[in-house]
Amino acid sequence: MSRPVQYNNHIKFEGIPEGYFGEGFMATNLEKVVSLARKNSIWPLPFATSCCGIEFMATAASHYDLARFGAERMSFSPRQCDLMMVMGTIAKKMAPIVKQVYLQMAEPRWVLSMGACACSGGIFDSYSVLQGIDQIIPVDVYVPGCPPRPEAVLDGFLKIQDLVNAEGLRRRYSDQYKDLLAGYGIQ
Ligand code: SF4
Repeated sequence: MSRPVQYNNHIKFEGIPEGYFGEGFMATNLEKVVSLARKNSIWPLPFATSCCGIEFMATAASHYDLARFGAERMSFSPRQCDLMMVMGTIAKKMAPIVKQVYLQMAEPRWVLSMGACACSGGIFDSYSVLQGIDQIIPVDVYVPGCPPRPEAVLDGFLKIQDLVNAEGLRRRYSDQYKDLLAGYGIQ
């Protein structure tokens, strides 16, 4: 005999965008639909150099299951991803590579900095380590910790989703955004 399906009360279902409903139709605006689609289909690019990368693997594995949030498809090709996740110590020699990968991503793109090393150099206050990736590329969300636990990574990912959902379609064309990129020498 089949058993009834048990639903967990904590499961949040994604709501439909605001709009007008009638029998057999729903009307909303394009911006809301695009934001909803983007938010729930983020393709991360894991740029992992050290121990934080191992913690990220736990986040993506079955127990924490990042795929629940639509981010199942990891991309190691910058042209097919929209969220760069930098995790681990970034040596100054590697900084141009991080920037090059970022530049190869198409807009709209977001960046999550995971762990103390990526955020600020961490314990490696030395001549050879970059003291935070925001010295070379703009960062949207910082996840602190050494290493952060998978729950913290998921929390950071949810914050990225909130940003993606709230971002207007034309934000990337704004003078403010262009000025931000120009500050990093990016045209
Ligand atoms: S923050 Fe800590 S765990 Fe993460 S890469 Fe640096 S030393 Fe390793």
